[in-house]
Amino acid sequence: MDGFRTIIEPFRIKSVEPIRMTTRQEREAKLREAGYNLFGLHSDDVLIDLLTDSGTGAMSSEQWAGIQRGDESYAGSPSWFRFEASIKSLFPFRHVIPTHQGRAAEKILFSVIGGPGKVIINNTHFDTTRANVEYTGASAIDLVIPEGRVPSSTHPFKGNMDLGRLEAALTEHRGHVPAVFVTITNNSGGGQPVSLENLRGVRAICDRFSVPLFLDSCRFAENAWMIREREPGQGDRDVKDIVRDMAALADGMTMSAKKDGLANIGGWLAVNDDELARRCRELLILTEGFPTYGGLAGRDLEAIARGLEEVVDHDYLRYRIRSTAYLGDKLRAFGIPIVEPVGGHAVYLDARAMCPHIAPLQYPGQAVATALYLEGGVRGCEIGSVMFGLRPDGTEAPSALELVRLAIPRRVYTQSHVDFVAEVCCKVAERANELRGYRIVSSPPALRHFTARFAPLA
Ligand SMILES: *Cc1c(COP(=O)(O)O)cnc(C)c1O
Repeated sequence: MDGFRTIIEPFRIKSVEPIRMTTRQEREAKLREAGYNLFGLHSDDVLIDLLTDSGTGAMSSEQWAGIQRGDESYAGSPSWFRFEASIKSLFPFRHVIPTHQGRAAEKILFSVIGGPGKVIINNTHFDTTRANVEYTGASAIDLVIPEGRVPSSTHPFKGNMDLGRLEAALTEHRGHVPAVFVTITNNSGGGQPVSLENLRGVRAICDRFSVPLFLDSCRFAENAWMIREREPGQGDRDVKDIVRDMAALADGMTMSAKKDGLANIGGWLAVNDDELARRCRELLILTEGFPTYGGLAGRDLEAIARGLEEVVDHDYLRYRIRSTAYLGDKLRAFGIPIVEPVGGHAVYLDARAMCPHIAPLQYPGQAVATALYLEGGVRGCEIGSVMFGLRPDGTEAPSALELVRLAIPRRVYTQSHVDFVAEVCCKVAERANELRGYRIVSSPPALRHFTARFAPLA
C-alpha cells in the first residue's frame, strides 16, 4: 500500500496453532533434563521457536488445497508436471531432479562430480554442503569477500565471492575444480546477499577456466529482493526477472524447498548437462526414487509448486525482509550487539560482546541461548564454539565468532511475537554480566552441538 509507513503481514490467519506458556520453574526443569542443550527440548515446551527457518514455515490455503490435489501416481503424476513447470518458470534448466531435501541433491551431485583430489569452491559452504563435498574425498574452499567475515561491516552484498581469490584458486587447482558454487543468500555468513554484478563476474571467470557454475539457491527469493532494494538499476524490476537473470548465469542449482520453497519438506537438483543429469538420475533411483517424484509425495510436489509462486510475490518479500530487519532494529535500539547488516532470514546476537567475562571455551553463545529460553521460552541456536570448536583431532579451539542465531520462520509469527522476543533479549542483555558459562559433560565425536550435554559453571 503506497503512502503508509506500516508494513503489514500480507495475509490473514485462518487456522491457529496454540503455543504453550510455561513458568520459569518449569523451564528450569526442562532445561536441566535436556542437559542444557536446546536441541534436546520438546518443542511444545518452547514458546517462540527461532531454532531454524528450515521447514518451519506456514503454508497458505492454496498450498493446503494443493495437498488435497496431490496425485500419488508412481510415474508421470500431474503433480510432478506442475512441480517441474513451476521450477522451470524461474530456473529454466534442462533437467529437474526432485529430492527429499537439499542435502540429498548435494549428496547425489557430489557423488558424481566430487572425489579425491577434486576441489569445490563456494562463497561459503553451508555445513551439509561442505560435509557432502568432503565425504567424497574432495576439498571445500570458501572464498567470500573479506567484508563477509567482519560482523560490523555494513557492505550491502556481504555474500559476494572474492573474484581475485577465485581466479587465483582456479589457476592453482586448474583441472581439478568440477564446479564453482555461489550460495544465495550466504547462510553461514548470516544470510547475506550476493549481487548480480558479482554473479556476472563469477560467471566470466568460470567461462575463462571452462568450469561450470552452480547456485546453492535455498534463499534465492530473499537474495533477489535484496538485489532489487540495494543494487543500482534493479529497483524497478520484477523479482521473477531478477531470479531468471541469476539462473541464466548458472549451469545448475541445488535447492532446499524447506526455505524459499515455502514448504515443510523437499528439494531438487537442476542441471543443463545431459550426461550429468543421466548419471545423477541413476543415483536418484538408487537412493531417492523414480525421477518424477524423487524423495517426495505427490502432495509435497504440489505444495512446492504453489510455494514457488508465492515466494516471489513482492508484498510477501517486502514483509519478509522487513520483519527480520524489524527485530534487528529493535535490538540495536536496546544497544544489543548484533551482526550487521541484518540478513534475510535471521538476526545474530554477538554473544562474545554481550558476555566478555565468559571465555570462548566456556561457550558464551550457549550461555545467552539458554538464558533466552529461561527468561521467556525463546529458542535460538548457538553458532560459536559449541558448533565449530571441536577439531577433527579431538582438541578444541575457539570459533571465530560467538553468536546466537534467531532464525525467523516464514509467515509464522506476528509483530507482537517479535516485540516479545525483543523484550526477552533486552532482559537477558541487561543482566548478561551475571550469566555463567558452561562445560561440556558428554559429547559425540562429530556435530556435537546436536547432542552434547552441558553443566553450568559455578
Ligand atoms: C538448508 C540448506 C541446505 C541443505 O538443505 P536441507 O533441506 O536442510 O537438506 C543447503 N544449503 C544451504 C545454504 C541451506 O541453507
